[in-house]
Amino acid sequence: MTRIKDRFDRPIQDLRISVMDTCNYRCAYCMPEDKFDDDYQFLRPDQRLSFSQITRLATQFAAMGVSKLRLTGGEPLLRKKLHTLVTELKNIDGIQDIAITTNGVLLEKQLPNLIDAGLNRVTISLDALDDTLFQRLNGHKGSIKPVLKAIDAAINSSLQVKINCVVQKNCNESQILPIIEHFRDSGAIVRFIEFMDVGNINDWHSDAVVTGQDILNIIDTKHPFSAVTPNYHGEVAKRYQLDDASLEFGLITSVSQPFCGDCGRARLSADGQLYTCLFANQGHNLKPLLNDPHMNDHELTSQLTNIWQQRSDRYSEQRHKLTDRKKSKIEMYVIGG
Ligand code: SAM
Ligand code: SF4
Ligand code: SF4
Repeated sequence: MTRIKDRFDRPIQDLRISVMDTCNYRCAYCMPEDKFDDDYQFLRPDQRLSFSQITRLATQFAAMGVSKLRLTGGEPLLRKKLHTLVTELKNIDGIQDIAITTNGVLLEKQLPNLIDAGLNRVTISLDALDDTLFQRLNGHKGSIKPVLKAIDAAINSSLQVKINCVVQKNCNESQILPIIEHFRDSGAIVRFIEFMDVGNINDWHSDAVVTGQDILNIIDTKHPFSAVTPNYHGEVAKRYQLDDASLEFGLITSVSQPFCGDCGRARLSADGQLYTCLFANQGHNLKPLLNDPHMNDHELTSQLTNIWQQRSDRYSEQRHKLTDRKKSKIEMYVIGG
């Protein structure tokens, strides 16, 4: 199989599929509750790609070199019978790894079906351990209890588990050490993520970013650690391990140390737009291609190949020079990180 490369010689590697545009949380950095109120018009079910359309597209992407899929949202577990999609995706030639990113609220109940369907990995978002802060961060949409229960269930299952913590200045830096301590000896990997300027609705400002180095400095006050070599070329997180080997943690430093040079991630929204960068302001609408009765799979692959070959995105590397950073960008809940 030939790996399709973009203008900067970056092969396409993973596809992140948003299966749902809605969410049961209202995190201020993603879906602030004043903007996403009861009157907000989310997609109608018939506007979302069907599982068979998603599977058809994933099959074409696998033919172009994609081997890893991640299901995301919005909240992916709000999509009914998600495990049946995992079963379909698992059967695609070339797909070696299927992961999901979730807030965890609905995970415990769905875990057995997802594992039976062939899910390999789960990433659960957890920005605080303190329940009062946790609830403030999710827009008062629920306590931490079901999330911690789901994390325990996932850790005790066959899945590889990662915990995602987005750190914001004067907000949840206090949670870094408790999170490190909570997950020691659990087998889960913790990843701290710099607050990013995805979309426009979160009023991002560089002053609100706690850099990867700041995070390391906080961890270093209590826990000696060392850097670990990357698992593979293009790995997003910089990896570290506590010196007593009780925990691996990582940093995602999209703002302070961008990693566009190795980026092979494509993103598909729930309504069928293909984005070639997390910070894109425009997608490629794939629905007309999927709805065209004359479009055979060969032609569909060549259209997707063409999109990737034209790609020249490297937003994070250019961020500091951009004068039009405020221009309309796709929102995080649409493409799921
Ligand atoms: N609802 C699921 C969840 O929260 O895990 C999946 C979708 S959510 C958009 C995916 C990830 O993006 C979460 O870990 C969330 O914390 C992260 N995220 C959202 N907005 C962000 C931002 N502005 N900067 C950094 N990470 C962000
Ligand atoms: Fe929902 Fe995830 Fe966005 Fe929070 S980060 S509002 S859980 S989609
Ligand atoms: Fe990839 Fe765009 Fe992020 Fe750079 S800014 S790493 S190109 S998604």
